[in-house]
Parts: sequence; structure tokens; C-alpha cells
Amino acid sequence: MIMEEEIFRKSPPELKKAPNLQDYELMYGNFSQDFMEKELDYWEGKVNAAYNAIDRHAAGWRKNKIALHWAGERETADFTFLDLKEESDRFANLLVKCGVRKGDRVFIFLPRVPELYISFIGILKTGAIAGTMFSAFGPSAIKDRLKDSGAKCLITNSELKKRVDSVMGELPELKTVIVTDSVHSGDGVVSYSEAEKMPASYEIARMEPDDYAFMLYTSGTTGKPKGVMHCHKAVIHEHITAKWVLDIQDDDVYWCTADPGWVTGIAYEILGTWSNGATSVIYEGRFDPEKWYSIIEKYKVNVWYTAPTAIRMLMQAGDAYKKCNIGSLRHLCSVGEPLNPEAIRWGLKAFGLPFHDNWWQTETGGILIANYPVLDIKLGSMGKPFPGVTAAIVDDEGRILPQGAEGNLAIKPGWPSMMKAIWNNLPKYNEYFRNGWYISGDRARVDKDGYFWFIGRADDVIKTAGERVGPFEVESALIEHRAIAEAGVIGKPDALRGEIIKAFVKLRPGFSPSAELESEIKDYIKVKLAGHAYPREIAFVDSLPKTRSGKIMRRVLKARELGLPVGDLSTLEEY
Ligand code: ATP
Ligand code: MG
Repeated sequence: MIMEEEIFRKSPPELKKAPNLQDYELMYGNFSQDFMEKELDYWEGKVNAAYNAIDRHAAGWRKNKIALHWAGERETADFTFLDLKEESDRFANLLVKCGVRKGDRVFIFLPRVPELYISFIGILKTGAIAGTMFSAFGPSAIKDRLKDSGAKCLITNSELKKRVDSVMGELPELKTVIVTDSVHSGDGVVSYSEAEKMPASYEIARMEPDDYAFMLYTSGTTGKPKGVMHCHKAVIHEHITAKWVLDIQDDDVYWCTADPGWVTGIAYEILGTWSNGATSVIYEGRFDPEKWYSIIEKYKVNVWYTAPTAIRMLMQAGDAYKKCNIGSLRHLCSVGEPLNPEAIRWGLKAFGLPFHDNWWQTETGGILIANYPVLDIKLGSMGKPFPGVTAAIVDDEGRILPQGAEGNLAIKPGWPSMMKAIWNNLPKYNEYFRNGWYISGDRARVDKDGYFWFIGRADDVIKTAGERVGPFEVESALIEHRAIAEAGVIGKPDALRGEIIKAFVKLRPGFSPSAELESEIKDYIKVKLAGHAYPREIAFVDSLPKTRSGKIMRRVLKARELGLPVGDLSTLEEY
């Protein structure tokens, strides 16, 4: 079963601007690491990602350029590169005063406020390792991460601190809590305002390229979160992908909707994009279609990086986009989950632009497979490997499979932002590398033109009556049905067929569950996909379980269906 190929051809009117990467094939064929190195500033082989993201711009012509347009829930603020340099210097000085040293883990537990960004940069400047935690985490998720990492210092606000206090007794290594809105210091608590008294200059730690810079616990779609370690030189890959995939140019205003509690918010809100001197918009609030469109209008956003789940929610909000002037948009990108063709078609209607899907993982530290401004888009495909990246579809023994065959999506190790370790868990780290490949845990195929197609996470692929079916294809077909807003598909054990396909669907407003609708949907999929690929069971649901970063958690659907333990739920957003 292969998704029908629908191509969106790029022609000059769709490219509102000449892209940074003008010839993909040429660059892929001639790529060299030296070329990348020239994009970064080093001190005789030593490097610091924070210096490359902020300070080098503060020392040059971009110093008064806006780095951050911050749109808070109640107020707004703008920061130039020089502002961010000085504030992060002050914060780095405060950390040192608090006893933070190179290699210490310092965690940030804040909503998307300026202090989050400033402290992240400040931590890197000291040579300590920054960790982030999404602000919706509850006490046990916080405890797991702070305990596993042995964090010494935490930056939070007084509201979120209450959740930390309830588990403080189990965190003996946590010595200092810096509180953004506290005026008092003492008893292990330090007021963030102390940074104001510190000098606005700091001698940045000159790090080995392979020294750790930040760590992140993965979103836990499939299991217990693991601490993925990234080094300072990862910024080089984040920089060049921001330049060629996100196509950041100096006169652009860029908005990434991700939260730095996840890797996208670090690589493409802090490091790779600021390293390109981007003017970034950060919106503190939650998803709301009208608010989102008004942000685009207000800041005249040109480049927009978001996620399929958000796009599907915007689709459900219908033509809300018509209320705002969103004509500034010129380049749209998406990551985090497979991007359904229907979402691209809708984007074309709403914005006159296609969303460019790209694929990567917390472990990969940056984009590895992408659709590029200059290349045609095959709807439903993740695109082609980034220059310098070798991607392949391999079998379980590491043999490259022929074009069109489903297999493990694998990458040749050694790209600069590849994770360095899993914290305290060498066996887990080693599991990723087999037969000379980094095995992503995703299943995919590659077509004759070198485009990669996502099939599903290895654990999610369904085996029914001898056929393998990827949940993504079935879900994509389901949401093309007029009644369906969202869908999650699993394999349910079946004595006869091994597994049958079961779909959990959320209906669009105005539709209600009925036996007629159920059989209409089944017939629709039989015709659209294949006789064996239709869901034999359909459950109508009000919501789908998702991670807080918006990914559908199929393992939760499955565990609930089978009455099995659901496992770690720390990242679960909805019940
Ligand atoms: P865990 O590894 O803890 O289960 P996770 O895999 O959800 O969590 P992330 O690193 O945030 O954690 O997500 C990476 C995964 O998201 C990929 O392996 C893939 O399954 C999915 N993904 C990301 N981008 C895309 C994309 N463009 N198309 C399809 N899937 C994607
Ligand atoms: Mg994963």
C-alpha cells in the first residue's frame, strides 16, 4: 500500500524570496564539514554555543537588531542581541556566585518568559549543562528529571516552585533554586533579581566542541523519558539547518511555536536560529487560533515553524485566518509528527503556501530530513536528507533495502548534532547504534527520487492478515473524511488476522457518532486506501491522548484498549 503521489511544484510565485539554499543536489553532492565550520566562531578549536547564538552578534552590526519580540500573556517586551548578551552575562555571574561550575546540571522550569531564554544562554556561558522542563509538568515528572540528572540548581517561578517543593526531600543534590519573581533570598532560594547587581560582562567558558551544553528528556511517546545529552558543537548543525531548511534571512521575522521544554524550542528558538541572527517571536500563551493569527499580523511574521497537531487545530477553526492580515508569511515549516497531506492542502488554501515537513528527533539534535524551499513537495513525504547526512532504509541486520521497501529509518553516525550520551545509561545509548547505523526507531521507505516517507514508529506499525500497515497513512486518509477532525490508529490483537486496525476518531463540530457514519467511514477508507487497510473498529472519542508537545500517544490508546498498564504518563496532555 503506497500513498498516492501528489506533487506540489515550486514555481517562482510560490517562492516569495530567493532561498539561502539554491541548489540542493549540488550542495548534497559537494558538502564538506569545513564548509560548515566557517559558519561558526571558534577560539583556536574551542567553542561555546551561547557565544555563537548571541554574543558574536552583540559584538557586531546586529547588536541593536531585535533578537526577541516577546509576546506575553499580559505584556510585551523587545530585546536586542546586546540586551540578551548583557542579561545573560549578568545571569552567568549570578550562577557562579551560587556555586555553579562547569559540568553541573542546571535546570529551567518556566513558562515561555524572557528569563527562560536568558538563563539558558547564561548557563551555557558558564560551561554548565542546561536542562529544560515543560512548565505543565507535575511533581513526579519534575522529580524524575531532576533526580536522574542530579541537578544542582533550578530556575523557576514561585507558582511552579510549589510543585518542586513537594518533592524537594527526594532531591538532595539540588542546592539552589533561583526564583524569577521572588524578592527575597536565603535558605537555598535566590531571587533572580540578584542578577541585576551583577556585572554585564562575563568571560565565557571556552569549551571543547564535544563538551556537553544541554540535556533533554525526550517526550516519552513510547516509554520512560531518557536524558539525551548534546554538546556545544551541535550548534553548527542547528545553524546550517536553520539557514537552509527554515531559510532564515536577515530581514525575516521568525516564529517557532515550540516550547523549549522540547528540543525544537532549543535548537530552533535559541541556538540555531539566533546563531543566524534571526529576529524571533516568542508567544508565551497557549494555542488559540485567533491569537495565533494576530501574532503573525502584529509582528509581520515571515517564517513560521510549527507542528501538525497545531495545523490540524487551525484547520478545525475554519477560516479564522481571514480576520487577520497574514500576508507577511513567506515560508512555512512543520515538525514533530507526520504531516498529513490534507494539512498541506489546507495550508495552501489558507496561506497560499505549502507547509514544509521535516523529520528529526531529540536524539538527532537537529533536522536530518527535510523539504526545502527550492524543491518540489510530495505531499505526505518528509523530504530528503540534509546535505552531509546519509539516510537509508535498512533491515534489522543493517543491509540497505531496495527503493520502495519498508524498513528501519537509519542514519550514518557522525553528524555534528548527534547526541553524545544518554545520561547515566550507556546500555540505552548503545542500543541506538547497530551494524554501523544509528537506528531511529521509526519505519519509513524511500522512493525513486530520494524522498523519504514516514510509515510509523516501529512499535506502532500494524500487522494485519500478513500485511503491514502504517498508522500514519490510515490516519491521513481518515482526516480527509469530511466528518473527521483527528484520528489515532492502532493494531488490536485478533485471533484470525493477527491484528485488526482500530481507529479512534474525533469528529468535527456538527457531526455526531452513529452506526451509519461508522460504516460510511469504513467504506471511504476501503476505497481510498485498500481493502485490508480500513479500520474494522472505530471508536468515537472527544479527544486523543497526546504528549504535551502535541504528539498522538498511540501506545496509550493501545494499552487502554487492551487493559494493560499505560506506563509513564508524565508527558501526557489529555485524557
Ligand atoms: P520517546 O523517544 O521518548 O518515545 P518521542 O520519540 O516522541 O519520545 P521526540 O524526539 O520529541 O520524542 O520525537 C521524535 C519522533 O517524532 C520521531 O522519531 C518520529 O516518530 C516523530 N516525528 C518527528 N518529526 C516527524 C515527521 N516530520 N514525520 C513523522 N514523524 C515525525
Ligand atoms: Mg523517540
